[in-house]
Amino acid sequence: MKASIFDAEKLEARRKEHQLQPFRIKQIYHEIFKNSVIDFQEMTALSKEMRDSLSENFSIVPFKLKEQQESPDTTKFLFELEDGNVIESVIMFHYHEIIEWSKEYKKGFTTLVDGKKLNRLTLCVSSQVGCSVGCIFCVTGKLGLLKNLDVQTIIGQVLYANNYLKEKLGKKEDNSRYMIRNIVFMGMGEPLLNYDNVKKSIHYMLDQNGFSLSRRHITISTSGIIPGIQKMIDDNLEVMLALSLHAPNQELRSELIPTITKMYTLDKLLAQVDEYTEKTGRKIFYEYIMIKDKTDKPELAYELIDLLLARPVHSHINLIPYNENPAIDLEEPSRNKIMKFKEILEKGGVTVTVRDTLGRGVKGACGQLGYEKVYEHRDEIKATGKNLRVLKK
Ligand code: SAH
Ligand code: SF4
Repeated sequence: MKASIFDAEKLEARRKEHQLQPFRIKQIYHEIFKNSVIDFQEMTALSKEMRDSLSENFSIVPFKLKEQQESPDTTKFLFELEDGNVIESVIMFHYHEIIEWSKEYKKGFTTLVDGKKLNRLTLCVSSQVGCSVGCIFCVTGKLGLLKNLDVQTIIGQVLYANNYLKEKLGKKEDNSRYMIRNIVFMGMGEPLLNYDNVKKSIHYMLDQNGFSLSRRHITISTSGIIPGIQKMIDDNLEVMLALSLHAPNQELRSELIPTITKMYTLDKLLAQVDEYTEKTGRKIFYEYIMIKDKTDKPELAYELIDLLLARPVHSHINLIPYNENPAIDLEEPSRNKIMKFKEILEKGGVTVTVRDTLGRGVKGACGQLGYEKVYEHRDEIKATGKNLRVLKK
């Protein structure tokens, strides 16, 4: 197996062997992070000999593309790891409303993609293959946990996405490149159960010589792993935190997330979250899944208001319409029902948004990752209530 190009010791050894000057290493990382190059052969500033040697001994992105699905708002990648496991990442293209764009365009202020004005590029990354938490509505949860992703595989998803954007969109008018500016850990897996690798990957995301992203543009989403939130405080991680709350009381929450809620009860979780907001001064984003006749009842909205207004720091809630999961009989509420729920929250003084369902067309919306595999074995999962790892599929 090839070594990771981010393995500083091995790279340094190779540099000495080739009697290269230290700035060459910087040059390699610059090509990777700033010029979105993921093939050593494209690093033409290096000698042919060096390029061949690097290609033979090191890898930049430790997986290959297995499948790619595109819709106007998303591109979903299915990557095959060296061990045959599959992970997924999704690019989300957010466009501005098209208001007088042509005027701005002429002034060179903006960039058009397919006639639309591109605002933001977000990448939804995976942190694990599968997930052990097993939320009843989540497709990834039906896979079970297969393994944690290492740092190279986490940042490799960003490198691959940037390389794809370079090919797809070319350069901007000012000659700069399109790059992922926002990262959300909302793909496969529970990031706080792979804390060390997630933390190290965030280092590359923030580093000036890495992706150079703002802390406010990186979001960790957790189902509520209390020790992980504590570690974020202790380590001063300072990225954004989203909590998948999904329910305003312990009973409903433990029905939706039957595993971790036994130990990490809602009371304890909220105490931890309050400590987080107080110590970091940062607000938390709450996520709340909208499932028909389960989480969409008006009385739950009132309960949510009480819960959120009791928090010491003002918080924001994002309602996520349930996406179909073939291995469980749940449904999405009507748009009307979702809007009524939203209205109750707003009248109660809570700020709320409804997540747009980007990526549905390609089964790439968050929580849909692993869909095909789960679909194939849906009857067995339903009949046994077990995940695919336990069923050894
Ligand atoms: N494990 C982390 C992050 C990955 S899941 C977490 O649970 O927060 C990312 C988001 O997708 C979570 O908010 C999750 O609740 C949501 N999600 C999972 N399955 C879904 C589904 N079927 N429909 C809509 N959202 C879903
Ligand atoms: Fe895991 Fe998040 Fe899916 Fe729950 S919602 S099973 S924590 S990936």
